[in-house]
Amino acid sequence: MSYLHRSDAEKIIMTKTIASILLVLFISGGASSAFAQKRKSTVDLIISGGTVVTMDGTRRVIENGGVAIKGGRIVAVDSVAAIDRNYSAREVVNADGKVIIPGLINGHTHVPMTLFRGLADDLDLQEWLTKYIFPAEAKNVNEEFVRVGTRLGLAEMIRSGTTTYCDMYYFEDAIADETFKAGMRGVLGETVIDFPVADNKTNEQAMAYVEKFVSQWKGNALIIPAIAPHAPYTVSEGHLKAIRAFSDRTGALIVTHISETKREVDDSVKAKGASPIDYLNRIGFLGNRVIAAHVVWPSAEELGLLKKLGVGIVHNPQSNMKLASGVAPVPEMLKQDLPVGLGTDGAASNNDLNLWEEMDTAAKLHKVMSKDPKVLTAEEAFEMATLRGARALHLEKEIGSIERGKRADIVIVDSDDLNQTPSYNIYSDLVYATKGADVRTVIVEGRVIMRDRRLLTLNEETIKADARRFRARIIRSLDAKTVPED
Ligand SMILES: [Zn+2]
Repeated sequence: MSYLHRSDAEKIIMTKTIASILLVLFISGGASSAFAQKRKSTVDLIISGGTVVTMDGTRRVIENGGVAIKGGRIVAVDSVAAIDRNYSAREVVNADGKVIIPGLINGHTHVPMTLFRGLADDLDLQEWLTKYIFPAEAKNVNEEFVRVGTRLGLAEMIRSGTTTYCDMYYFEDAIADETFKAGMRGVLGETVIDFPVADNKTNEQAMAYVEKFVSQWKGNALIIPAIAPHAPYTVSEGHLKAIRAFSDRTGALIVTHISETKREVDDSVKAKGASPIDYLNRIGFLGNRVIAAHVVWPSAEELGLLKKLGVGIVHNPQSNMKLASGVAPVPEMLKQDLPVGLGTDGAASNNDLNLWEEMDTAAKLHKVMSKDPKVLTAEEAFEMATLRGARALHLEKEIGSIERGKRADIVIVDSDDLNQTPSYNIYSDLVYATKGADVRTVIVEGRVIMRDRRLLTLNEETIKADARRFRARIIRSLDAKTVPED
């Protein structure tokens, strides 16, 4: 019997039944989608798509992955499908076809020295320092110089995917201010040195500066204030001991140069009857808050000692090569699982602040020195620029890998340029083929500070104009014979 032939009463009953079935379907459908909506957590930012190179404990690499970020920290790292299922965000960065890596860590810089880039090249360390750099600094370094040079260095580092750097210079408070404004992370050490410098004329002044500097920035999400005795040969034993005591009292990290050249070691043995590492250990200076740049000339026993004491080490292959300082025993450091990261050193001895070059150079330098191509792999070099670099700065709980709970310092890299095609191995691509110019988007503490190669917190044109203005000033300040004016 068709519907058309039913009685009116039957028609009404059937219509009502169909209506209530539809109503139930509608309500249950709505409720289940509302339920699903409820289960999705709202986060600040989602990076969606792309290959995530996590550098976590199992070295997980997630194809078509995603990262959810909230309050500056990573809340989830998973497949895109899982991230989509569980999170919604105000802002989504599409990384399809790209590589998502932990932000690179530049473990050693003197960031304002970008303004001395190319001022004096092809000299050994002592001649370079005493004839050119120290005089140029004495005549030019002031707070404005430091701010301009810092902005130049920050822009260069962000554009090449560095999210954290460790610095040592003068007016470090101004460097901290510029770094914070640019949205970058820094372990920033105010220099203490036993001769009058631009910002402090005596050790008392320098220690008072550091005291204020550290207390002002302590607890800041981006800035880790530190104290930076220049080196064991430029700071007296008494001052070094006072610096260690300051660090014990405040928890501040100590940034310094140790064992950079053979001459430093020979002079130390002559003057103090001990190598720099031996001497620093003897006076109780070394410990697990020290970050030592270079360590080119340690003995085998000294490496064991550094490991036991938890000293962080920063290898600067290009600076060491350029100043012919020697080759640090990095393969041995890795064999002993020492916390050794990578740094550029100042732009005057490199002459850029590009971590991609340091990774590539580190891997190749140690192969040629040991005549063993297996001695430092691409993955190990990448680890030195990320997780092991974080260990060198004593920050491995906070940065260095893309893991739940860590600070959201993440870099998105293009992977389809000619120099990256075709692709077989992700670490090989990153270390041997990818360049700084392939970095597309940079995120620090969950905030996008470069999007599609455009800096969002710094003005490149103003930075370049300011730097050129300083170049003219620096040339005028030095002997015309030293720097030809063009
Ligand atoms: Zn240095």
